[in-house]
Amino acid sequence: MKARAKINLALDVIGKRNDGYHNVRMVMQTVNLYDYITIRKTRSPGIILKTDLKWLPEDERNIAYRAAKLMVERYNIKEGILIDLKKRIPVAAGLAGGSSDAAAVFVGLNKLFGLKIPKKELMNLGYKLGADIPYCILRGTALAEGIGEKLTKLPPMPFCYVVIAKPNFSVSTAHVYQNLSLDNLSYHPDIEAVIKGIKTGDLDIIAKNLGNVLESVTAKEYPIINDIKKTMIEYGALGALMSGSGPSVFGLYRNKKEAQAASTELKLHSEAKDVFIATIFNRER
Ligand code: ATP
Repeated sequence: MKARAKINLALDVIGKRNDGYHNVRMVMQTVNLYDYITIRKTRSPGIILKTDLKWLPEDERNIAYRAAKLMVERYNIKEGILIDLKKRIPVAAGLAGGSSDAAAVFVGLNKLFGLKIPKKELMNLGYKLGADIPYCILRGTALAEGIGEKLTKLPPMPFCYVVIAKPNFSVSTAHVYQNLSLDNLSYHPDIEAVIKGIKTGDLDIIAKNLGNVLESVTAKEYPIINDIKKTMIEYGALGALMSGSGPSVFGLYRNKKEAQAASTELKLHSEAKDVFIATIFNRER
């Protein structure tokens, strides 16, 4: 299976809840940058996870493992499971790589064992592990509210190329939210405008209205984020933005040549050496 990354076309924080989480409004979009996940049945019971990233845990600390365990317990799966995870999505980068791996495990085990669990039930189960997992099960273009789990499907956004650059450090989502000063935010993205652009299939309107309030924390700590955005725009991006809590930055390009030129420039002359050229992915599950 391909476990695809997401980008946020818009991310606004509405308020803080009593349990410490924040209420958000986010426009989510799946892109064609993915981890490869192979799941096999084995004779001896138990869950075995193997990954090609040396430092990524292969036990319960890995969210893909936890997803499998939840499925085994909930649906009384007796056979063994072997999961092979080839990691391509940068880790702790604002691209929901872990959530997408978990989503692929939920969907994969449902198929492999012929469980016929309805998508809605799978999404509710996914929510137990993480707020972004229901969206990663759904995929495509969607508005996410609540803490990210309340989803409203949107029409598929227009196709374009997406250059994704990941600077050479990771950012903890918890740290970014803890340092977000909600009362002092001078800017909120115009989410309705982004949705209008999506509904009318107008890439320019979408690109002009990209916005993420978490940049007020991450881009302030790491100026390289604005440098990358500037380079992306100089090289023809219709718009550029930090995804999630960062530090990944993406730029939207109408044509492949410009996307390639931007990618080459970033690889050669910026500190963000991890650069990918992806495309918008809209097929729902
Ligand atoms: P989000 O956009 O939802 O904030 P992210 O892209 O910032 O997610 P992830 O890549 O999902 O972050 O990983 C966050 C943390 O989860 C990392 O510190 C990592 O060690 C841990 N983790 C556990 N399982 C996985 C996995 N399968 N893939 C990536 N990270 C994982």
